Amino acid sequence: MPESSRARTATRLADIPPTIFAEMSALAVRTGALNLGQGFPDADGPPEVVAAVERALASGRNQYAPGRGVPELRRAVAAHQQRHYALELDPDTQVAVTTGATEGVAAAMLGLVEPGDEVVVLEPWYDSYPAMLQVAGGVARPVTLRAPDFRIDLDELRAAVTPRTRFVLLNSPHNPTGTVLTRTELEAVAALAIEHDLVVITDEVYEHLVFTGHEHVPIATLPGMAQRTLTISSVGKSFSFTGWKVGWVSGPPALVDAVVAAKQWLTFTSGAPLQPAVAVALDEHDDWPAALARDLQERRDLLCAGLAAAGLPAVSLPQGTYFATSDVSTLGWDDGDAFCRALPDRAGVVAVPTQGFYAAPDAPGAGRHLVRWAFCKQRDVISAAVERLAGADLTA
Ligand code: PMP
Ligand code: GLN
Repeated sequence: MPESSRARTATRLADIPPTIFAEMSALAVRTGALNLGQGFPDADGPPEVVAAVERALASGRNQYAPGRGVPELRRAVAAHQQRHYALELDPDTQVAVTTGATEGVAAAMLGLVEPGDEVVVLEPWYDSYPAMLQVAGGVARPVTLRAPDFRIDLDELRAAVTPRTRFVLLNSPHNPTGTVLTRTELEAVAALAIEHDLVVITDEVYEHLVFTGHEHVPIATLPGMAQRTLTISSVGKSFSFTGWKVGWVSGPPALVDAVVAAKQWLTFTSGAPLQPAVAVALDEHDDWPAALARDLQERRDLLCAGLAAAGLPAVSLPQGTYFATSDVSTLGWDDGDAFCRALPDRAGVVAVPTQGFYAAPDAPGAGRHLVRWAFCKQRDVISAAVERLAGADLTA
């Protein structure tokens, strides 16, 4: 059927490549390779929480939920922030439920960013940030976390702020580098935000996936920051339910209102039977994410030892999240994307190239040759993958 020449993607999205995570998972399915690419666990979260969805489905929670989310989930989110971080939130005005953190990010961009506003953002970034910033008409001002230690260069951070800057978009624990921002780094961001009257939008979906010796500090807990910070999180990573797509935002009422203003036209409301179950997860399974983090730490070590044995040592030991990064230039590759596309054939394994998460992947210290491995997979999958890598010819 010949299609109309007008049947095409609008320019605001047309130049953005399709998300690499889906592309790499499709490659894994097509080739039968072990998937250490897309970040989703291959084991589910607490069965009691799954049972809570089944109860909700069977007891008539099947019509539209309130736009801001069901009251018990908003209360559970507020109680979680109180319990873990001593943040006091009014569940009616300072919390809203979103369709995953992804909608939280999108609605924050659409609801808050004016065309031309500059947004200081860490790179490498989560791919939805630049996409939604572009849709909103905002301008990204990247601050690069450079290998091998992936820290914020505070001078660069300060230099990224101009009179047009209105926002800082943070992500800690950080995907893909595994960096957990320190209190000192966050204090520097906070000082800058207060000095220039910036709003901080912080994606904390990996808030509980932090390893020994590191601590997640929500920037909203720093003095003067609760009133200028929008925090985004989700059930996906903390409870291994990435397919549920239930997230939330919290912060001062004006910021939450702006998210809801956009959210109502995106999805109107999020999945009704999932929300009471997520409240059960937060209220009744508070220890589950910490146990997951302990387990993930062992899997991190298993993966990193195997990568080192295969000649692809992790650039740095991940402090949080479930991702590790290797530099494939050690094996003669100057392009991580080419490496990842060859990897299923060479070794029967899939990883994600991170070069697409940089504004300028060839800039000094950027990521043309970096690839990311997910260790949220079962131990036998990780072991089999690193065995395959060790047995393959991986040179360029
Ligand atoms: N932010 C980051 C940093 C992520 O890694 C992800 C992927 N889970 C998301 C947001 C999206 O979260 P969700 O699946 O809840 O939309
Ligand atoms: N957050 C996950 C990752 O970084 C995947 C999310 C997605 O596929 N959009 O791999």
